[in-house]
Amino acid sequence: MPTLETLVSLAKRRGFIFQNSEIYGGLGSVWDFGPIGVELKRRIKDFWWTSMVHNRNDIEGIDSSILMDPAVWEASGHLKGFSDPLVECTECHKRFREDQIESTCPECDSELSSPRQFNLMFKTFMGPVEEEAATIYLRPETAQGIFVNFNNVLTTSRRKIPFGIAQIGKSFRNEITPGNFIFRTREFEQMEMEYFCHPEDSDKFFKEWIEFSMNWFKEIGIQEKNLKTRIHTDDERPHYAKSATDIEYNFPWGWGELETINNRTDYDLKNHMEKSGRDLSYFDESTKSRFIPYVIEPAMGADRTTLAVFSDAYHEEKVNDETRTVLKFNPKISPIEVAVLPLSRNEKLASISNKVFNLIKSSFRCQFDDTQSIGKRYRRQDEIGTPICVTIDFDTLDDNSITIRNRNTMKQIRVEVDKVTQIIKEHLETQF
Ligand code: ATP
Repeated sequence: MPTLETLVSLAKRRGFIFQNSEIYGGLGSVWDFGPIGVELKRRIKDFWWTSMVHNRNDIEGIDSSILMDPAVWEASGHLKGFSDPLVECTECHKRFREDQIESTCPECDSELSSPRQFNLMFKTFMGPVEEEAATIYLRPETAQGIFVNFNNVLTTSRRKIPFGIAQIGKSFRNEITPGNFIFRTREFEQMEMEYFCHPEDSDKFFKEWIEFSMNWFKEIGIQEKNLKTRIHTDDERPHYAKSATDIEYNFPWGWGELETINNRTDYDLKNHMEKSGRDLSYFDESTKSRFIPYVIEPAMGADRTTLAVFSDAYHEEKVNDETRTVLKFNPKISPIEVAVLPLSRNEKLASISNKVFNLIKSSFRCQFDDTQSIGKRYRRQDEIGTPICVTIDFDTLDDNSITIRNRNTMKQIRVEVDKVTQIIKEHLETQF
């Protein structure tokens, strides 16, 4: 398993993730995704969206705003209950989350203050006047945008319960102790789905969604041995949940949460009904009965999942007394699928290489690279996890064939240019 330092340094060197505002010294625990990282994260989000929304016939997608009526956060309980216990060292004045440390300061071993509840929501003002009445919050979860749109989606999609609403978007939490690279940050992206069901079916769906989520992480390519589930104890469950189970990943520093599956009961819809005065109950035509749906929620972080995928794909291998670093991403989410590499900048090779690039670019995510030696370019593609490299050499001019190199085995085969798209497709499907 790689160390976190190894991952941070590779992420920077190869354009996955950069420190935010780096030229000013860097804003703490805020990160930017570079040219390769943005592709990886986007493909992970697309993979989730496809398996949640496109491949199922019981889930709709939405995209709601980050800013919401502050009444939402009163109703949802976040204004009162979305807080962590903060303690401060009486000597060095560093601040910590009480539930994450022992009884003295982890920095200088001095005494700690008694805990006070610290609300994690970011506050700002809406409009030109900075006064209490204009206070608004950056959402700490995407879920509330789904709950307040429950009726809109229900009526426009003409769904019947059970059905779900999925959303991917930014959330913000003023975490007391962010850290571990992109594992815990103050701005992050969530992928959440709220599944509305009859209260009596909620335990059944809770189990089903844990299973679905586990399988999803395996499908995306994370090794099974690095995944496990963990049931929340009574005192750590979120304020809205009847039961909660985490899916954890074996990160370089140990096991950590990737996703939580919550049974949120009718907590949110009921509170929004009370606060807004709008009816959010559901009438079941088949039983002629009315009820407030229960909600099962699989909630995961896109950034944490990206870190888990990145860490899991990392391999070092000995090749002829040298160490090769290779990221063995599942080709379905690798940032680049095919690299097109002319052996030299010779004009004739460039012309065929462009032809190959144009031939395959609509079928795969491609990158064209004609810099440096071919050995260095292979190493670079291995380090960003490109499953296939296509090399155009001087023989190509005679036999109209090119070389395909497999990232994992490093084996090479010759392929006719006219058949290249089909052969790469087959290779990606069967050889990884
Ligand atoms: P933690 O216990 O790690 O603080 P949480 O239980 O508060 O997380 P949830 O409210 O269940 O997190 O959020 C669902 C998912 O959103 C988490 O599993 C995680 O993947 C992601 N997430 C939550 N907080 C952060 C954060 N500060 N940075 C990055 N991802 C986060």
